[in-house]
Amino acid sequence: MARITYGRRRVLVTGGAGFLGSHLIDRLLARGDEVLCVDNLFTGDKSNIDHLAANPRFEFMRHDVCFPLYVEVDQIFNLACPASPIHYQHDPVQTTKTSVIGAINMLGLAKRLRVPILQASTSEVYGDPHIHPQVESYWGNVNPIGIRSCYDEGKRCAETLFFDYYRQHALDIKVVRIFNTYGPRMHAADGRVVSNFIVQALQGHDITIFGDGSQTRSFCYVDDLIEGFLRFMEAGPDVHGPINLGNPNEFTIRELAEAIIAQTGSRSRLVTMPLPADDPTQRKPDTTIAQAELAGWEPTVELEEGLRRTIAYFRSALKIA
Ligand code: NAD
Ligand code: UDP
Ligand code: UDP
Repeated sequence: MARITYGRRRVLVTGGAGFLGSHLIDRLLARGDEVLCVDNLFTGDKSNIDHLAANPRFEFMRHDVCFPLYVEVDQIFNLACPASPIHYQHDPVQTTKTSVIGAINMLGLAKRLRVPILQASTSEVYGDPHIHPQVESYWGNVNPIGIRSCYDEGKRCAETLFFDYYRQHALDIKVVRIFNTYGPRMHAADGRVVSNFIVQALQGHDITIFGDGSQTRSFCYVDDLIEGFLRFMEAGPDVHGPINLGNPNEFTIRELAEAIIAQTGSRSRLVTMPLPADDPTQRKPDTTIAQAELAGWEPTVELEEGLRRTIAYFRSALKIA
């Protein structure tokens, strides 16, 4: 039976103390919801949510989603999972457990409450893709036993679980495949390329290009992604995805480094380092479905502007004049 909502909507965000989760919570609170943030602070940081502590509609619970969670909410956004290669490879078994057992627990919670649940999946489900740009119907090219597999296969299994709960239990699921997203509150030391290059440039250190820098990524500014999350959750019970969300403008990693050097005015040198195993050579979302299903959603912040805002954040966070 559907849960009856009295007064405000109460929204659960797992991984809410992380980069994306904290931005999502800001938007949910701004529109008047109550928010329950569940996070074990593995890669997240309380500083991302400190500014919410005095808000009576915000609640934080330190909890690992690998363990059952009995709470009462009206919507669930399941973001809990380390996201950067350095972080998810630090304890790969825990990464798979978080993706798979965490998904089972959050789906069990959604099933008991009969509420919609959105899963933060990833472009990594396409692996090193043979189809370019990536469309949702592509099944991917993923190594099941490599160093990225704990994340890639964990997220793929989570997608399987979401679709089985939909087919078997008629759950209202929403699966988002997120392409590289960046912005303020990224972890300064998580090794992701945008934060790494900005921190290196601001500190005058060498900028570390892995491989020859010809591999591509398409970078989405965080605000655009969160807008897509919110539209997806409101899209109604017939819209399940998977839906790609990302900015389709594609850049080589070398172009990204040059853009960051230009904007920071840094004198850092570009140096090359070995390419990590299974590093995808190209990535760019096809966003046709997002536009059609999510009321014309499309990114509005292009790389130059997004980098400007992110560089300003890191200048302040790292106390660099
Ligand atoms: P993040 O590391 O900043 O946030 C992840 C959060 O999950 C952290 O606060 C962390 O402490 C928490 N967490 C990890 N394991 C947990 C557990 N077992 N129980 C409870 N909390 C746990 O990363 P992010 O970039 O904000 O990513 C959020 C989600 O989006 C992740 O699921 C990630 O896989 C997905 N995603 C992000 C991107 C991106 O470009 N940022 C791309 C694809 C997918
Ligand atoms: N679960 C949870 N909170 C709930 C309901 C379920 O954490 O409110 C967990 C519970 O640990 C269970 C899992 O979700 O193992 C899957 O639940 P489901 O009802 O699908 O399966 P079952 O209980 O039969 O294993
Ligand atoms: N990369 C790089 N230098 C760095 C960090 C990353 O050249 O200091 C490259 C990495 O090899 C990959 C791309 O940048 O080709 C994106 O890496 P990231 O870890 O941000 O995300 P991914 O898309 O690989 O999960």
